[in-house]
Amino acid sequence: MASTTLINPTDETILRTVEQSSLEQVDDAVARAVIAQRAWARLAPAERAAALRRFAVAVDAAIDELAWLEVANSGHPIGQARWEAGHVRDVLNYYAAAPERMIGKQIPVAGGLDVTFLEPLGVVGIIVPWNFPMTIAAWGFAPALAAGNAVVLKPAEWTPLTAIRIAELGVESGLPAGLFQVLPGRGSVVGERFVSHESVRKIVFTGSTEVGKGVMAGCAQQVKAVTLELGGKSANVVFADSDLEKAAASAPSAVFENAGQDCCARSRILVERSVYDRFLELLEPAVKGVRVGLPSDESTEMGPLVAKAHLDRVASFVTDETRVAFRGSAPGGAGYWFPPTVLLPASRTDRVVTEEIFGPVVTVLPFEDEADAIALANDSIYGLSGSIWTRDVGRAIRVARGIETGNLSVNSHSSVRYSTPFGGFKQSGLGRELGPDAATAFTETKNVFISTD
Ligand code: NAD
Repeated sequence: MASTTLINPTDETILRTVEQSSLEQVDDAVARAVIAQRAWARLAPAERAAALRRFAVAVDAAIDELAWLEVANSGHPIGQARWEAGHVRDVLNYYAAAPERMIGKQIPVAGGLDVTFLEPLGVVGIIVPWNFPMTIAAWGFAPALAAGNAVVLKPAEWTPLTAIRIAELGVESGLPAGLFQVLPGRGSVVGERFVSHESVRKIVFTGSTEVGKGVMAGCAQQVKAVTLELGGKSANVVFADSDLEKAAASAPSAVFENAGQDCCARSRILVERSVYDRFLELLEPAVKGVRVGLPSDESTEMGPLVAKAHLDRVASFVTDETRVAFRGSAPGGAGYWFPPTVLLPASRTDRVVTEEIFGPVVTVLPFEDEADAIALANDSIYGLSGSIWTRDVGRAIRVARGIETGNLSVNSHSSVRYSTPFGGFKQSGLGRELGPDAATAFTETKNVFISTD
């Protein structure tokens, strides 16, 4: 049996080994899920709702345990990790209301009654990346279960521990056996088997754009539904008429949170040329003030990167030729540390401007006017997130409508909310998660006509 050795990214000690699921184990799990789903879908909607609420209670009682697991496995700061575990509980509670609201339509037609039903798909396969192991898992499994489906979920190889524990909590809270199973393992084995298995009727994939394209191609073989949440290179657009102090003070957290390992990271700061120098002056103390340190310390804002291989990849973007404006601090010694880094790219087509670095690295570029700002923000294969800083309401609305991206905030850097839709334009993804309609995305619409003759 193959296994993965997990390394604590803070001190490089060995945490534990986790067995990788084999193809046979995946097939057995899917077979169990098929059986469990049929019984789950037959339950009264209120009973499914109650089961999800009990699951949320179990997660709530384990928030500290889950948070410390994430500190050890992923290097997330403890305060952030507690928020993530609480978010899983909140997402479960939010979608616990869905089973009793899977409302179809009654459509006026001649000669009878026409109604639609929102039928569950069956078994849903969820493939999760390593950057937010708990929250991203919950965005998939909570609405999928609420809509009457069973779930098989594959965590990322580096960060499986919280997902494994959450599945145990589900069983402990009384979820039927086989309904929600977590299968650690390799993408090329477990992930690909989810895609190729005929009984898995939808894939929710969050990860890199490159792997996502392969998943989409695989799903096409069986005309399988797919939601893709992929990469990003989001813009933080700062106009001269904005509250520049506030924009500069908040820019570091918008990109360095989770050490920049965030698909929504505002990793391209675009500043109107007339205030470009002033903005950099204000940004420098804010970047140097980011508290980078031990994730177990309650006051830490940024921890290490997740793994050595990822640290090497991030570091490869900052070479001797790269123009570094200034950097924050990072501990030395063991651990995968990389300081918050601000780059002044040589051109708008520089690799550091166009490619997703997925680490604590941000570029700052000047723009000329509103049209240039929109063009520059849109000059990317991605379109996931972004921010706009201006005191002009009309401009805020014009620019928000002009930027091709799924999630924007004005004079703020709002993070993901479970009650609002989330997803990307262009190569940042396909479909939406979260918000009031997410459970519907795990259903097929069935139309039934009943003759009155
Ligand atoms: P990744 O694509 O390497 O892996 C993601 C998941 O897919 C992992 O569980 C992996 O094991 C699995 N996988 C790998 N190969 C597979 C295959 N052939 N078939 C099926 N599954 C396979 O991504 P990552 O490095 O874990 O995560 C970082 C990426 O995720 C970044 O690009 C980031 O922007 C993106 N991301 C996007 C969102 C979003 O909501 N848009 C959120 C978080 C992360």
